[in-house]
Amino acid sequence: MAKDASACTRCRLAGGRTNVVFGMGNPTAALMFVGEGPGEQEDLQGLPFVGRSGQLLDRLILEEMNLTRDDFYITNTVKCRPPGNRDPLPDEIESCWSYLDQQLGLVDPRVVVTLGNFATRSLLGRTEGISKLRGRAYPYRSGYLVPTFHPSAALRGGGGVVAQIRADLVRAKEALAAAPLPRPAG
Ligand code: SF4
Repeated sequence: MAKDASACTRCRLAGGRTNVVFGMGNPTAALMFVGEGPGEQEDLQGLPFVGRSGQLLDRLILEEMNLTRDDFYITNTVKCRPPGNRDPLPDEIESCWSYLDQQLGLVDPRVVVTLGNFATRSLLGRTEGISKLRGRAYPYRSGYLVPTFHPSAALRGGGGVVAQIRADLVRAKEALAAAPLPRPAG
């Protein structure tokens, strides 16, 4: 699927990208993070969350959940960088949805953490903003979905946003403990 996506021209974002940023991490992880779209560094390196906000996210996940990128899978709602880091448009999110949907099915995480408005609204099918939707775990697929702020909001918003992301990561850790284990094959 990553190879297929690397040549994708389904939406206008194909025209400005350097690399398709498909996702990285443990493909059988119990925990999956879904962000918005690649930024400049992500587009250049072809990897998700490798800029400043990604470094902050990695630190918070390590401190609150004691996990590294070997332990979870991380991707975005759209796989190509919107020009100038603008918000992804509804038709772009829709064009890219089948990749994310298949990733969710293949990784089959017990807990999904959505980072920011676009991932949260897309996966939950809601229209409220992240400030209203965060603060609880929602039943989702075979486990739970825990919404939180995008780490770039923490870079802009400072300590208050960081504290709320920390609380949401603790919530995700609790959801992992509560989510049913997958049935053994056969
Ligand atoms: S954003 Fe998604 S749908 Fe659009 S070109 Fe990139 S991979 Fe294809």
